[in-house]
Amino acid sequence: MRHISLWGMTVLALTCLPTHLFATETKPNQPPNILFIFSDDLAYQAISAYGDSRQLLQTPHIDRVAKEGIRFDRCLVTNSICGPCRATILTGKYSHKNGFYNNSNSRFDSTQTTFPKLLQANGYSTAIIGKWHLMTNPTGFDHWDILPGQGRYYNPPMISNGKNVQREGYVTDIITDLSIDWLKNRDKSKPFLLMAQHKAPHREWSPALRHLGFNGDKPFAEPSTLFDLYKDRAQAVVNHDMGIDRTFTKLDAKLVPPPGINSVQLEEWNKYYLPRNNEFESANLSGQELVRWRYQRYMHDYLGCVKAVDESVGRLLQTLEDEGLADNTLVVVTSDQGFYLGEHGWFDKRWIFEESVRTPMVARWAGVIPPGQTNGQLVSLLDMAQTFLGAAGVAAPTDMQGANMLPLMKGESVADWRKSLYYRYYEYPSPHRVKPHYGVVTDRYKLVHYEGKDGGEWELLDRQVDPLEVKSFHQDPAYESTMAELKAEIRRLQEVVDDKTPPPAKAYGNDKLEWEPFGQLK
Ligand code: CA
Repeated sequence: MRHISLWGMTVLALTCLPTHLFATETKPNQPPNILFIFSDDLAYQAISAYGDSRQLLQTPHIDRVAKEGIRFDRCLVTNSICGPCRATILTGKYSHKNGFYNNSNSRFDSTQTTFPKLLQANGYSTAIIGKWHLMTNPTGFDHWDILPGQGRYYNPPMISNGKNVQREGYVTDIITDLSIDWLKNRDKSKPFLLMAQHKAPHREWSPALRHLGFNGDKPFAEPSTLFDLYKDRAQAVVNHDMGIDRTFTKLDAKLVPPPGINSVQLEEWNKYYLPRNNEFESANLSGQELVRWRYQRYMHDYLGCVKAVDESVGRLLQTLEDEGLADNTLVVVTSDQGFYLGEHGWFDKRWIFEESVRTPMVARWAGVIPPGQTNGQLVSLLDMAQTFLGAAGVAAPTDMQGANMLPLMKGESVADWRKSLYYRYYEYPSPHRVKPHYGVVTDRYKLVHYEGKDGGEWELLDRQVDPLEVKSFHQDPAYESTMAELKAEIRRLQEVVDDKTPPPAKAYGNDKLEWEPFGQLK
């Protein structure tokens, strides 16, 4: 049997046999602790370990996890927005199976089987601290302390084991402090699962006061597609509402202060923003110059938020060392999806395209994951539940839809690892007017079908010849056989993941759809 409950065996052995027999029990038989450091909307382009050509930011602590373990270069998501990705992580299932489709009207069915529940039932002490965003209260956790909804950057209200509490300070620091406090005061008789889940760097990207001006006003490099005109693209792409040019608000631009900030904090905030905002107002920018100004402001604020997340990773790693936990703890740092840092003129996520379908993931487990590895296989947040259960030696339910990444983490070659991943996005039209779409991602291609009343539209992207993804090849005769193969692959994957019936209209977050929902290829 592949899944053996090592923890269960240890408990059984300790109760049935003389204790002296276990004096020399070796470490591999002890279930590992699991520290899951999770970020919201964290782009791999913002992490120095990923080596983005713009060199936007140094993230020494996240890089350290990669250096001491493994960096996954193609960790993909299955529905690129906050709530659905979280539901997928917990259940190991696609949105159409766990019922959480969108951020607009979905509510997590908390009676479902999740990996934290299974770990808890197998002797783990479990905690979730930070952003939850699944509308119903957490289940399967001995301790929970969460932000309601999206949460606030400054002085956030939180819900601690069901009780409303008002917290003072900067949200990333608060989540880190609460996580460290829980680690130090945990039930030391048990292994633990701690999910430390940051709100940052989610929109509106409000950095900690100490990080304002961290770049010394040095300009950030622009992406080459900042002024993408989408001329060889589907109408669905042209019609987006997530552009730095057309969708950026005063709050996004910090022309107004963030919600919840107090008068003392505001004084400090004004010292940085006011003179720069006054200069901006008097310059009266328009067109490309306005987009360029907004991009610089966006990068300052977004990357400032990431700096605090990186510091949080450093403090949590230090706490593991202080507590003597560094060796037998599996540490995973990842995000709920990727994010556009100006590519195609965008912020936000949602699309099947690279910057949003791909999320950063690094992992460390001393003695189990060899250091300094990189891995380019198609892994997914869908795999998280089975990976954690596998690490703990707990059998994963057979209806989970991912796979255990541990063999890859150990550097083993897995001959039958997936070569393609099915993707499906629902939420429409608001916010951001991204047309519902489904498709397949391979190492080279993406074939995507946008739903619509006219039967929809196709796009075929070829990262090998078009790494920036600015052109669709679906009508190019040279790609005819590729189109046919990938359409067949979508059909095959829809069978595999059992996405064969049209989703309910509410899946789109809007009961008045302009088309008949369908899940089948036409
Ligand atoms: Ca998110």
